[in-house]
Amino acid sequence: MKLATFTHDGNTRIGVVVDDHVIDLAVAAPALPTEMKAFLCAGPAALATAGAAQTSKARFPLAQITLEAPVSNPQKFLGAGLNYADHIEETGREQPKYPTFFNKQSSCVNAPFAPVWLPRGERRRTDYEGELAIVIGKRCRRVPRERATEVIAGYTIVDDVSQRDWQGRAVTMTLGKSWDTHGPMGPWIVTPDEVGDPHALDLETWVNGELRQNSNTRYMIFDCFEQIATLSTVCTLEPGDVIATGTPSGVGVAMEPKQYLQPGDRVRIEIARIGAIEHEFIEEPEPT
Ligand code: MN
Repeated sequence: MKLATFTHDGNTRIGVVVDDHVIDLAVAAPALPTEMKAFLCAGPAALATAGAAQTSKARFPLAQITLEAPVSNPQKFLGAGLNYADHIEETGREQPKYPTFFNKQSSCVNAPFAPVWLPRGERRRTDYEGELAIVIGKRCRRVPRERATEVIAGYTIVDDVSQRDWQGRAVTMTLGKSWDTHGPMGPWIVTPDEVGDPHALDLETWVNGELRQNSNTRYMIFDCFEQIATLSTVCTLEPGDVIATGTPSGVGVAMEPKQYLQPGDRVRIEIARIGAIEHEFIEEPEPT
C-alpha cells in the first residue's frame, strides 16, 4: 500500500495511492485520523481499514492534488552518514566502525515536488544526496535487528540536501543538514509488503536529466535493520520518525570539478518499488 499526505482545495489529509489516483481516506474511511503520525499510531487496525478503502470511489487523480511530505512533522528526522563504501571512498574518509548518525531538524521537511532553497548570502555549496528512508510505525526501544521489520511502517525517498561548507564547519554536521526546505521526502510511504527486500532497490539520482548516482541499497554498510537496532538502543523511536539511510557515490562535492546546485537545477531521485521525487532549486526568498 502507498500512504500519502496530500492537499486538495486547501485541505491537507492522508490517502492511499492506487495507480494514478489517491483515495481520500477522510471520505472513504472517516473514522480514521486524517494526519499521518496519528494514523500510524493507530496501528494495524487503521492500516487494515485503509486497505479496505482502496476500492472506494472517493478518489482524485494525482494530477488534481498536491503531494506533501508523507510525514510533515516527524518527532525525529535522522540521517546515516558514510554508509555506502563508494561514497566513503569519494569523500576520502575512513569507513566508520560504528554507524554514524546526525539530526536533520524536522523543520527542514519539505514536500516531494516543492522548490528547495539555495541559501541566500552563502557560497554556493548546496548538494543533493539521494537516499532510501525508513518510516517508523511503532513506538519501540531496544529492538534487536531480527525484529526490526516489526517496527517499520514503510519506506520513502529523501533528498538529504546538504550545505557542504556548513557541514564541514563542525563535527556534528547538523547545521549543514538542517536548512529550511532541505528535507524533501516522498512521494509517499510504501508499506514493507510492497517493497519486499529493502536492501535490493536500485537508487538513481539525476540533475537536469544527467545521471549522477546509480547504485543499489544492497551496498549499504549498516543496513536498515542494523540502523533501527542502533538508534533504538539509545532512544525510543516513535511512529512517524524518519531515518534517511545514507547516500551512495555520485554527489556533486565529489565531482571533478565540484558541481554544486545552481538556481533552476532540477534534482530527481528514483528508487525502485517506491517511485520518484523531483524538485527545483531556487534562490531563498526574503524572510516573511
Ligand atoms: Mn546523507
